Amino acid sequence: MWPTRPNAMAQLERLYQLRRYDEAEDKMAFLTKYGPSCLAVATNGHVELSEKHLQHLSSIGIVSSSSAGFEKIDTKALQSRGILLTNTSIALRDDVADAVIMLTLACRRQLVAAHNYVQMADWGVKGMYPLTSGLRGKRAGIFGLGSIGQAIADRYSVMGLEIGYHSRTPKANNYTYFSSLKELSMWSDILVAVVPGGAETKGVIDHDVLRALGQSGTFINVSRGSVVNETALITALEKGWIANAGLDVFWDEPTPNPRLTGAPNVTLYPHHASGTAETRDAMAQLMVDNLKAFFNGEKVLTPVYELTEAVK
Ligand code: NDP
Repeated sequence: MWPTRPNAMAQLERLYQLRRYDEAEDKMAFLTKYGPSCLAVATNGHVELSEKHLQHLSSIGIVSSSSAGFEKIDTKALQSRGILLTNTSIALRDDVADAVIMLTLACRRQLVAAHNYVQMADWGVKGMYPLTSGLRGKRAGIFGLGSIGQAIADRYSVMGLEIGYHSRTPKANNYTYFSSLKELSMWSDILVAVVPGGAETKGVIDHDVLRALGQSGTFINVSRGSVVNETALITALEKGWIANAGLDVFWDEPTPNPRLTGAPNVTLYPHHASGTAETRDAMAQLMVDNLKAFFNGEKVLTPVYELTEAVK
């Protein structure tokens, strides 16, 4: 297992016999010794779980993850073995969507630069801060209209923005669907990435997509750093091909590229979109509740996929 919030951890300790993979110095020796007797894995999507681990975890029926993303977990290998996977997207979607609004406003209204303007006493010397860009009537393009993407769309709609989106399949709604990311970007004033990471989305926010967004465009990323070609993003910011970017996730975490973090037209957040005490507690609790449901023989609360009868 991987550690979690104190209240959830106390429940796990009370209910189950825990084997602490996170504390093991020799991970593979730990798996050889304890893996076969484990019935469940409590983890998060930032920790690798692949074939090399699963071959030792021959008795597990569930992987309960306390995060939303799970690109480091080999879902195909789990499914083929009839192992359930649960995540906690539902518990964190509001905080992540709120963080998108925070980054959008910070970029468009230039919160960080304006804050510095007051703090450095430029206001008294140089006069009124230059005018910024409002949100009402602007077009927000959401790349990945899933659980969190929908919560972002709800907020943007209330704020008077028009919604467009790109995903692999159109959804049943009144928003404008774009079958290509580049077309969505060309249409958008604000482009938000909120897709899963992994091989399929690696580097898809590239030079062409950023050029399509245009010099008054804002790019917001709360998905994964891997989704962006970071060299292309740095160039776009430096050359003014886009206006600005609000970034919660980076290619190199926790020490992102200084050329990116040093750009005057970025607003940065340390992969903390879900980082409130309330939400982290809710995520941890949902991870525990999924385990409880599983061991009680009930339907798990938030499965990532349904198992087919053949592999159950
Ligand atoms: P969902 O699975 O609910 O939604 C994902 C969306 O992305 C779906 O609309 C899906 O639609 C679309 N999608 C998936 N793959 C592709 C693709 N290759 N091309 C285009 N669209 C695609 O996930 P959530 O909304 O819960 O979370 C989304 C992601 O947000 C997570 O995977 C994680 O990476 C990130 N996240 C970041 C957090 C942070 O702290 N910054 C916190 C939580 C999540 P379709 O299947 O039709 O393509």
